[in-house]
Amino acid sequence: MKVLVINCGSSSLKFQLIDSESEQVLAKGLCERIGIDGRLTYSPAGGGKHVFEDPLPNHTVAVDSVLKKLTDPEIGVIGSLAEIGAVGHRIVHGGEKFAHSTLLTEEAIKEVEACSELAPLHNPANIIGIRACQELMPGVPMVGVFDTAFHQTMPPKAFLYSLPYEYYEKYGVRRYGFHGTSHSFVSKRAAEILGKDVKDLKIIVCHLGNGASICAVDGGKSVDTSMGFTPLEGLTMGTRSGGLDPAIIEYIAEKEHLTLPEVLNVLNKKSGVQGISGVSSDFRDLEGAAKEGNERAQEALDVFTYRVAKFVGYYAAAMNGVDVICFTAGIGENDIGVRATILSYLGFLGCKLDPEANNIRGEERIISTPDSKVIAMVVPTNEELAIARETVAIVG
Ligand code: AMP
Repeated sequence: MKVLVINCGSSSLKFQLIDSESEQVLAKGLCERIGIDGRLTYSPAGGGKHVFEDPLPNHTVAVDSVLKKLTDPEIGVIGSLAEIGAVGHRIVHGGEKFAHSTLLTEEAIKEVEACSELAPLHNPANIIGIRACQELMPGVPMVGVFDTAFHQTMPPKAFLYSLPYEYYEKYGVRRYGFHGTSHSFVSKRAAEILGKDVKDLKIIVCHLGNGASICAVDGGKSVDTSMGFTPLEGLTMGTRSGGLDPAIIEYIAEKEHLTLPEVLNVLNKKSGVQGISGVSSDFRDLEGAAKEGNERAQEALDVFTYRVAKFVGYYAAAMNGVDVICFTAGIGENDIGVRATILSYLGFLGCKLDPEANNIRGEERIISTPDSKVIAMVVPTNEELAIARETVAIVG
């Protein structure tokens, strides 16, 4: 079956057409600046990258443009839309309602809409993408795959905040966690590579990208994760602060004469390694600057790696041990130095880095020594493939 995977943002739409039997990507691309002007980048598997600057006034036009490229006689990869057997949608927030991926019936879409309050920047955009596909591909089954679903196995001791309980009951204020599709994919793949059953392993997945989170996966189930009610909690990220003393919010609002939404904007978009360094949110720039003697760039890297190592420590305690530590996403897969620094804190767990094995980017590889008690490995994530697999599993 050919599955169209859609990841819809407020002004963007990423897509991949995946052949579920061969698991090959037939074509992929991105619509940007939807509702502003419009830009579609389309890359068919045979090679080449085509850029179109046609107007994209809304998401329906964007999806329509994507479908036209996929079926184009010259650059298309399918003869007709009838070849698309199902559509898989990435949905950011499934609240407590969705512990698994789901067939997007009208009732399910209403429930996704009800979760919008918890993710006002993301879920409405996801729903617009779903509606656009419904309009243009009536009758094609659609599946919602949620970033939060994998973490619904967290026990109350991991998901409850120490706040008045009524906030949880009345408003759903609890830890949900994100990047679940990636944490699930990587933990399963790690077990496969090691030739073991994921049920027999305690795995800590470090998803280190521009957004970053860590997950404790015990026996294949998420038991704790570093993002919380929103993706702002936890690790230091590209531009997000991660965890901080909440009293800072009022203090900064007063000092800088900012409203609460303005302070939250600083915490989401002007903090993290960007905020500390004043250089960049990109680790390649930070490392370049640090090498040239920029102390704040080095401090940003130090804060990032130290906090990742602390979370690995928390989760080793949470699971009463750890067998495997996985690195994934842009930084986790590619940043040799960051991986080495993080693992330099973890000798106490019996984790020994093999520097030569660690000298790789973007490949599946065990990077610990053969006598290391804890296995460290790089496992590239593939959220689109995970969504395609879930979609096929549900559509059958
Ligand atoms: P992601 O959000 O998973 O796409 O990750 C994006 C981030 O990965 C970028 O902002 C960079 O900080 C980081 N990254 C990508 N490639 C490299 C590389 N070769 N070395 C270090 N960091 C990288």
